[in-house]
Amino acid sequence: MIEVDQVTVSYGELIAVSDVSFRVPPGFVLAISGPSGAGKSSLLWAIAGAVPVKSGQVEIDGLVITDRPSAAAHGVVLIPQGNGLARVLTARENLSMPLLADRRPADDEALEELDRAIEQALSQVGLEESGDHLVEELSGGEQQRVAVARGIAQQGRVILADESTSELDSTNRERVLDLLRAEADRGAAVVIATHDPNVADSADGHALMDEGRLTWVRRL
Ligand code: ADP
Ligand code: MG
Repeated sequence: MIEVDQVTVSYGELIAVSDVSFRVPPGFVLAISGPSGAGKSSLLWAIAGAVPVKSGQVEIDGLVITDRPSAAAHGVVLIPQGNGLARVLTARENLSMPLLADRRPADDEALEELDRAIEQALSQVGLEESGDHLVEELSGGEQQRVAVARGIAQQGRVILADESTSELDSTNRERVLDLLRAEADRGAAVVIATHDPNVADSADGHALMDEGRLTWVRRL
């Protein structure tokens, strides 16, 4: 359960997120749309512990989020806008990094399981042939799918997808939306920031952000 309670995020004088409150229970997908600069990314960063809140509080399943490392350890997965991939590593290496940071495989069996999880996630985004490619060799859309694969491979309790379909054709967009829906179905709480009305329509709830304020188009 994501609980965002009266959260304000500011950068100096600029207020990016203004007194925003909502909840996303496990099993649900919330879409947040709104113009560029509205504060969508800042809100997701706050939920991920990647920016401090000026006031208010984010709780994930009862844990107050204070910083990125503890949020990540608690299963808060961020699929960042712009992908956040290491360009000079392969797709497969990019998937393995957060998994290895999380829990070192204790033995060969654990290592094999980790490899299987990586291959499965790559094939779920249609990139089973691309694991050995450097990220910088991949197209923008392929990189976006690697970022999604990296996100879902982590089996988080919260998935924050920041414009994760912006560079995809409709087939791959549907594929990514199906994967995010499957994450919710296995019990994750999912938030998608998006410009795409089709993505917003597919979610269980739809909120609009404008100048840092959140209003509901369709409540969860
Ligand atoms: P969106 O994702 O909806 O486009 P952002 O959260 O990226 O919105 O940005 C909200 C506001 O905060 C914008 O005015 C943006 O310029 C500003 N902003 C975002 N990140 C930073 C930052 N790291 N430092 C200063 N201002 C920022
Ligand atoms: Mg953004």
